[in-house]
Amino acid sequence: MLKGKTALVTGSTSGIGLGIAKALARQGANIVLNGFGDVDGPRAEVLAAGQAAGAQVAYHGADMSRVADIEDMVQYSVRNFGQIDILVNNAGIQHVARVEDFPPERWDAIIAINLSSAFHTSRLVLPMMQAADGGKGWGRIINVASVHGLVGSAQKSAYVAAKHGIVGLTKVTALENATSGITCNAICPGWVLTPLVQKQVDAKAEQHGISNEEAKKLLLGEKEPSMQFTTPEELGELAVFFCSPAAANVRGVAWNMDGGWAAQ
Ligand code: NAD
Repeated sequence: MLKGKTALVTGSTSGIGLGIAKALARQGANIVLNGFGDVDGPRAEVLAAGQAAGAQVAYHGADMSRVADIEDMVQYSVRNFGQIDILVNNAGIQHVARVEDFPPERWDAIIAINLSSAFHTSRLVLPMMQAADGGKGWGRIINVASVHGLVGSAQKSAYVAAKHGIVGLTKVTALENATSGITCNAICPGWVLTPLVQKQVDAKAEQHGISNEEAKKLLLGEKEPSMQFTTPEELGELAVFFCSPAAANVRGVAWNMDGGWAAQ
């Protein structure tokens, strides 16, 4: 379905971004990976996922808190594949502390990586999406927000502010391109068992002197009625739906996949 398209997925060396990159590659999209840590492993996984569909994979190590890096990554993607058709703004970090204890430099980093980076990639990629399809415009921007883009939780001021912000950015981007083939939507996961959440599980296990399994149940029980983690694979399939022709008129939504968290 996505053969010939190119997807830039930020923060895709791990977790949700990697799950989305694999799902898009399976549909034939060429992928530009981004993120820190091991690159060879994720690259091989995405190549394997896209092999049957002929997807190619490139990587750029931009630090999403740095505007110059982001500009370089967009240029690199275009040099490699000619165009960016699908932009998945996924890179994100977390820090947990009460407002009065929150380190200002952590606040700035979370706003930069979880929110401002999506503004920068979007502003750089939109002109080429607007010129696509003979000037009628075609593109898909998918912002990985969070259920914390819809509701708050104590000790997550910067994260909740950034995620509410990205839901707002999603709506404005969708509206500004509403008469074109460019859509912009947000995905709002509840708990997904990635390294970002495992750190919070570890903290709970230590705080209460309980096992990893008990800490997972405690974490889920506080917020997620289904008592199940959403998986990167499920989120990948939602991203594929947003890229499909059937989703051409889905514009500016914040779609939660949260086991009922926000329904309470
Ligand atoms: P993760 O830690 O597994 O992956 C984060 C990715 O972002 C990694 O590839 C990492 O290298 C990259 N990254 C971090 N800082 C970066 C930077 N400065 N520049 C470039 N890349 C950077 O986390 P995850 O859980 O997969 O989170 C992905 C997104 O999903 C985040 O935006 C997060 O807020 C969101 N989210 C996660 C959950 C969850 O429960 N895990 C729930 C809702 C939303």
